[in-house]
Amino acid sequence: MRPSTPPSDRAAWLKGPAFKCSIKPTVQHRPWRLVLLGPPGVGKGTQAELLAAEFGACHLSTGDVFRTAKRMDSCQATAAMVGALALMRAGKLVSDELVMAMVAERSGCLHCAGGFILDGFPRTVQQAMDFDKLLATENIVLDAVIDYELSLDATIARAAGRLTCPNCHAVYHTASKLPKIVGTCDQCGGRLKQREDDRSEVACIRMRQYTAVTEPLTAYYQQRGVLIPISAEPSPSEIFANSRKALEARRR
Ligand code: AMP
Repeated sequence: MRPSTPPSDRAAWLKGPAFKCSIKPTVQHRPWRLVLLGPPGVGKGTQAELLAAEFGACHLSTGDVFRTAKRMDSCQATAAMVGALALMRAGKLVSDELVMAMVAERSGCLHCAGGFILDGFPRTVQQAMDFDKLLATENIVLDAVIDYELSLDATIARAAGRLTCPNCHAVYHTASKLPKIVGTCDQCGGRLKQREDDRSEVACIRMRQYTAVTEPLTAYYQQRGVLIPISAEPSPSEIFANSRKALEARRR
């Protein structure tokens, strides 16, 4: 099921609807429209990249939109975005209203021919309810919600080893996914960094917040019959194989 074109540069998602993606997928199969859940650092970004490459879907990460805004000229940032970035640095969630407005503004990305893989959204039950309304308005059906499960200790250790590329947002790991050249992104040559919010004190705040605010989403999506729990204990390639198998089983 490999797509016939590489994944898009996500310009319309990362920078907003005024921008056009440089590559449009031409996929032959029915698109997958997915949400990925799981605690911060569990490996959702890595799985999203693998699934996006496999299905030709667009990787839609709300965190990447904020990180892109952080690197843009400060004159271009709205007051709401400046406030959002301060919350992000502190490991706190941005308001439901701002996140929803940002996603609704980018609703064109939900119609991507290759489908979409949402990573980091929805993150609260309110966002999930508002997203259901947006999907209904756009006449889009969510195929599945994959919940990556990992113990708290393992999640904290995994988040501590994560490195990301500030240019293209590719994700690496000091234990399980090393770049070919130390400290350098394989995809664009950018200098890899630890995310500000992966520092241990901020990571703990994010973890507590996940348990209190985001974990209830698993029950929300289970009730709707779309939840697929996948263990995030094995290696990234095994997790990916298990995710793909579970998705394919749903369409048989
Ligand atoms: P992530 O890359 O998904 O871990 O997101 C990084 C940060 O961006 C989070 O810690 C929040 O501050 C903010 N953020 C991203 N997505 C959301 C969301 N759906 N709701 C609220 N805040 C978000």
